Amino acid sequence: MKIEKAFVEIKINNLKKVYPGGYEALKGVNLTISEGMFGLLGPNGAGKSTLMRILVTLMNPSEGEVLLNGKDLVKQRKEVREMLGYLPQDFRFFAKMKTWEFLDYSARLAGMRSRKERMARVDEMLGSVGLYEFRNRMANKLSGGMKRRLGIAQALIGEPKIIIVDEPTTGLDPEERIRFRNLLSNIGQGDTIIILSTHIVGDISSTCNQMALLNKGELAFTGSPEQLIEMTKGHVWQIEATQEQYDELKVKYPVISTIPSGSGWELQLVGDNVEAYDPQPVYPNLEHAYVYFMEYKLNNWSL
Ligand code: ADP
Repeated sequence: MKIEKAFVEIKINNLKKVYPGGYEALKGVNLTISEGMFGLLGPNGAGKSTLMRILVTLMNPSEGEVLLNGKDLVKQRKEVREMLGYLPQDFRFFAKMKTWEFLDYSARLAGMRSRKERMARVDEMLGSVGLYEFRNRMANKLSGGMKRRLGIAQALIGEPKIIIVDEPTTGLDPEERIRFRNLLSNIGQGDTIIILSTHIVGDISSTCNQMALLNKGELAFTGSPEQLIEMTKGHVWQIEATQEQYDELKVKYPVISTIPSGSGWELQLVGDNVEAYDPQPVYPNLEHAYVYFMEYKLNNWSL
């Protein structure tokens, strides 16, 4: 017997979006996303939300196409929507609904007709996002982190193949951030695609096996976080500097960190051919890589 492996893929071909008024927010994006966690990283205004809104069929592209498992996002909207779960950035709950009632409502919206099945699924989801003991609490009375988890539960309740989360950790405290990331990466183990769109490097590093950098409507990089880090090797430096040296260096190179050291500073900065004050090479992390590519290379610091 032939066993067919479940397969999920998003193909984005030459995607453009021009807003009324003429602003070109996406300038011909080409991207293939396969199973696992995908991180879309870029500064505010890069076009991330525009791309997310197109992917979840809330907005049509101006040009180009998106295929989700071969189905065209514009022409086969109904089929596409059945594959999607979406957690928008500014997710709001209806007042006067208990936590379980809200999920039950979401399950009905996702097309689950049988009450018995819905109840079982609601309990399962409450358990997996750690909200079972709060099931009778009013949804709008949950803490910020719990609301985010309830948001994920509603996005997942219809068992979507593709889950899109916009700015996943906005407004969460550090402990909630970690919890939320762990929850997402557990889901990401299955045959689903999870897209995280964020301007926070830390949202990407620990969880994503694929990523892209978006800048001014264009992709600056696609690949794995490890590949991006590899490309940054040899461009990150640590320097012991006096205040005067620091003042001089910070106009030449993006400085990533400063720690007081003696009467001066221990600096980490990125740049090509850094020739100053005994620079020591530093093994890059994703944050270094982000600053090197998005600030140093794209903003032409080296010119
Ligand atoms: P990001 O999510 O990366 O912060 P957005 O996709 O929200 O970026 O925005 C990209 C650019 O498109 C920004 O310059 C923004 O001002 C512009 N933009 C977003 N929405 C609209 C709109 N409805 N009309 C006109 N311009 C818009």
